[in-house]
Amino acid sequence: MKSILVLFLFILLSQISYSQPGIKYAMVIHGGAGVMSKKSMTAELQKEYISVLDHALQVGDSVLKSGGDCMDAVVKTIMVMEDSPLFNAGKGAVFTHEGTVELDASLMEGKTLGAGAVAGITDIRNPILLARTVMEKSEHVLLTGKGASQFAVEQGFKLVPNSYFYTDKRYQQLQELLKKERVSGTNDKHGTVGCVALDRDGNIAAGTSTGGMTNKKYGRIGDSPIIGAGTYANNATGGFSCTGHGEYYIRLGFARDISAMMEYQKLDIQKACQAEISKLTQLGGTGGVIGLDKSGNIAMEFNTSGMFRGFIKSNGEKQIGIFK
Ligand code: ASP
Repeated sequence: MKSILVLFLFILLSQISYSQPGIKYAMVIHGGAGVMSKKSMTAELQKEYISVLDHALQVGDSVLKSGGDCMDAVVKTIMVMEDSPLFNAGKGAVFTHEGTVELDASLMEGKTLGAGAVAGITDIRNPILLARTVMEKSEHVLLTGKGASQFAVEQGFKLVPNSYFYTDKRYQQLQELLKKERVSGTNDKHGTVGCVALDRDGNIAAGTSTGGMTNKKYGRIGDSPIIGAGTYANNATGGFSCTGHGEYYIRLGFARDISAMMEYQKLDIQKACQAEISKLTQLGGTGGVIGLDKSGNIAMEFNTSGMFRGFIKSNGEKQIGIFK
């Protein structure tokens, strides 16, 4: 009789903890990974980065707090970082070899496995918004270049001149690399942005937006607009957004591989992200990843000396970081 009572109590308690998870919603962001040191970044600049990351977290948090969905949170949060000249996405994007700007972005919804992405965008202020429109208003997943612009106009987007994306800092970075004849992304320059959100309904979305790598040529496209490489979301496992040397991320099928390790090997999100970063290191690549699972567990892993990053949870927990 006593053991039946204990068993009954055990079942009751496990039901309660299952139906009352501590975390109702959560969100994690990154603003790129790369070589960063306290010495090479003025205190003033650190403050500026932290203030934009903080603002981005607040924007996403208010969407989630008021019952908004994870897709809205991800898009609105990424738009804050796309509109800041500090990050390599939207306004602050890096230059191609030809001195123009070509943007990539992608977005995925974990509930439906719906996805939208754009690549080689030259005239849309917020590529993440266009990625969402591709997902919701077209029968495709990935649109590129002129065709993507045509679709954007049909959907009511206003075009901006490519000069809108000009910033002195990025122009100087191109000049340095042109002298050295090198292509650079995360090895020394950084700033791709990403976000993963879990909403009150238990749905997860992930998104990534970038200007790619400075001095890129020949219409080069990295991992950021490739679903499964730079972005992936599945309610059964979690959501992931990557930043790093895109060619390595594409070859590893990076974000999807993390999800697969969680699904098939039953690894937790932290271990799965760490395992994937080890594979990246072994292959010779650099970068980082953020991840968020259905219980609100967060991973922020990178093999560089820094990654702009932060998270916020419904219980008030919040963190913003730059260096290792
Ligand atoms: N992953 C981006 C790309 O390869 C660059 C970055 O994240 O810094 O285009």
